[in-house]
Amino acid sequence: LLQLAIPLNLLGMMYREVKQALTNLERLFGLLGEQLDIKDRPDAAPLSTARPEVRFEAVRFGYDPRREILHGIDFVVPPGGTVAVVGHSGSGKSTLSRLLYRFYDVQGGAIRIDGRDLRELTQASLRQAIAIVPQDTVLFNDSILYNIRYGRPAASREEVEAAARAAHIHDFIVALPDGYETAVGERGLKLSGGEKQRVAIARALLKNPAILIFDEATSALDSKSEKAIQAELDRIQQGRTTLVIAHRLSTVMNADQILVMDAGRIIERGTHAELIALEGHYAAMWRLQQERRDAVHAPQDQSSLR
Ligand code: ADP
Ligand code: MG
Repeated sequence: LLQLAIPLNLLGMMYREVKQALTNLERLFGLLGEQLDIKDRPDAAPLSTARPEVRFEAVRFGYDPRREILHGIDFVVPPGGTVAVVGHSGSGKSTLSRLLYRFYDVQGGAIRIDGRDLRELTQASLRQAIAIVPQDTVLFNDSILYNIRYGRPAASREEVEAAARAAHIHDFIVALPDGYETAVGERGLKLSGGEKQRVAIARALLKNPAILIFDEATSALDSKSEKAIQAELDRIQQGRTTLVIAHRLSTVMNADQILVMDAGRIIERGTHAELIALEGHYAAMWRLQQERRDAVHAPQDQSSLR
């Protein structure tokens, strides 16, 4: 009886673990309570490319098909290039990243990687190729080590620590009494928004993906930490196809192309210099942010003169 009881108990534990992991995964992307019913086609093929091209073609989508959110989105991220998306909140920026990760299928048009429709690819290979640093990172109720290693479960301890160092979270971790074994998540140590974001960045660094998505990845950081991490993000973008969704325009200046979204449409596109010269929405947003930045820095500058 004992021999049977132990495996059954183990099975129960595994079931709970798996269920928890799935719940976490769904929460990670804010999908709890929604149906994840996308299935691979029988003839789905794996994605295998080191420097993919990502193409949105006349993409239409609504979470509720009766309320369209994206009204025909066209853009191309060249292999290894960077496209940045800016716009007011609610304009549909994060929806682009959710569609690229294929949490939902488009309702019109297509998303292609190297010319192949996402719907022709296996989801496992697609998600293997993409790392998202989301707006709100949900941590698993497990150690901080597990939470970072989740990016690539086969990674060695040294690789995890290297990723944590690059994400500027290693020193914080080793200063904790239990170090990398510290339990985090709802039942453990509660990390601040900025700390969670660093964990997410470390996770993405460890995954070493062909496609990177930053969804306002540095929004929870103060401007000093943002600068330090931005340099790291710039470095890991090199040679990877990257989609950057950003609030602060200073983080998108170097993109190959910037898209300005409004209410589910792209209303302006170009490089930073082109959009400034256009003197449209982007130029106005830029001016506003510069003024705000000057307003914030002015008192400090004065005090340093004293
Ligand atoms: P942004 O990232 O630009 O702030 P989002 O892409 O998150 O905008 O949202 C675009 C629109 O889609 C908003 O009107 C938002 O309310 C709606 N939306 C976002 N996520 C969901 C969801 N899971 N279910 C229903 N509507 C959603
Ligand atoms: Mg968003």
